Amino acid sequence: MQRIAFYAGSFDPPTNGHLDIIAGGLNLADKLVLAIGIHHAKQPLFSFEERVSLLHGSIEACFPDHIAKIDIIAFDGLLIDKAREIGAKILIRGLRDATDFDYEMRLAGMNKMLAPGIDTIFIPAQARTRHLSATLVRQIATMRGDLSSFVPGVVRTALIDKFDNKKAIS
Ligand code: ADP
Repeated sequence: MQRIAFYAGSFDPPTNGHLDIIAGGLNLADKLVLAIGIHHAKQPLFSFEERVSLLHGSIEACFPDHIAKIDIIAFDGLLIDKAREIGAKILIRGLRDATDFDYEMRLAGMNKMLAPGIDTIFIPAQARTRHLSATLVRQIATMRGDLSSFVPGVVRTALIDKFDNKKAIS
């Protein structure tokens, strides 16, 4: 039977930290489903379609041999409901620090009660990416900082375009 892992996030935008976790998920599962959370109350920097395209571009650049193992989908309700619906047995989460740990342990506990057949697996962030968050990447992009150590090339280009266009419009 195919072992399906589910990795959810906002990926707004995808960072090298997300890609490290994707690499770990690829080691653990036959199929890795990347689920982009759509929160109607939150206005993302990149649209769902843009985030799909950035994830695709990043995966093509970083894991060209694993493209067939990865699906990208949207979800707008409880992530555990979506994970169950697609038949996942593993929830992948990344852990950067103690703040992530406290939140993620609570989330894992609640998810286990909601779906006992699905287990959370934590992948620790690597030293070179543990300081990274999409929020900080967006802030650095706003101020035209150097993004090359934080995101794949395709994301860096999209961030530069996004903020150059915004400047041109305002
Ligand atoms: P962010 O927190 O960067 O906005 P998401 O909300 O998309 O990212 O996070 C989804 C998942 O990815 C969470 O499990 C989070 O801990 C993990 N994650 C995000 N950034 C990193 C990183 N730099 N290293 C390890 N895990 C990460």
